[in-house]
Amino acid sequence: MIGEQIVVGLGGNIDNPFTTLSSALDELGELATGEILVSSIYRSEPLGLAEAATDFANAVAQFECDLEPMVLLRHLQALEQKYGRKRRAGSAVDESHPSESSASEPRPYESRTLDLDIIAFGDRMIVESDLRVPHPRAFERLFVLLPLLEIDPGFRFADRIESLQQLVDQAPGMAIGKWQG
Ligand code: ADP
Ligand code: MG
Repeated sequence: MIGEQIVVGLGGNIDNPFTTLSSALDELGELATGEILVSSIYRSEPLGLAEAATDFANAVAQFECDLEPMVLLRHLQALEQKYGRKRRAGSAVDESHPSESSASEPRPYESRTLDLDIIAFGDRMIVESDLRVPHPRAFERLFVLLPLLEIDPGFRFADRIESLQQLVDQAPGMAIGKWQG
């Protein structure tokens, strides 16, 4: 069987995120059965976070691997743990108003050392309580779309008719650019 193209999104904004993402991208390469395509690392503004939050580093990687989606998710979660993902006080969502987060639109963003999301898994559409693929918010996040456009301009989400460029044009604006030094 020909492997499916997997897209993983990486993000982090505390404890030297550029270095963390660089290492995590190397480790993702070990899950790949062949070549891994890796975007530049981008710097994006911390939307919806406390004012003091620092910029995010973001990137995407595309590769084939022979793990099933849930197994891949567990591997990614183990990597998040390894890099000491922290949920810090002062993140956007006020815990006293849990109604602000729902299953369809959960927490906005939180400060974290490393966040790994499965953006796409071939053409699969997965709707499970702990895994939704394509990632339900990736199509409107410039910090996913721009790195993806860089490595695979012809990419299409299994559940969207728009091209990547159209999604970029429609996405809410945010400050984002390649990470400089
Ligand atoms: P976000 O990435 O939206 O900021 P979190 O990383 O805090 O949110 O969410 C983690 C939860 O999201 C995990 O419990 C995981 O089971 C669930 N999840 C659902 N779909 C995906 C996906 N496509 N990739 C990664 N995690 C997912
Ligand atoms: Mg996540």
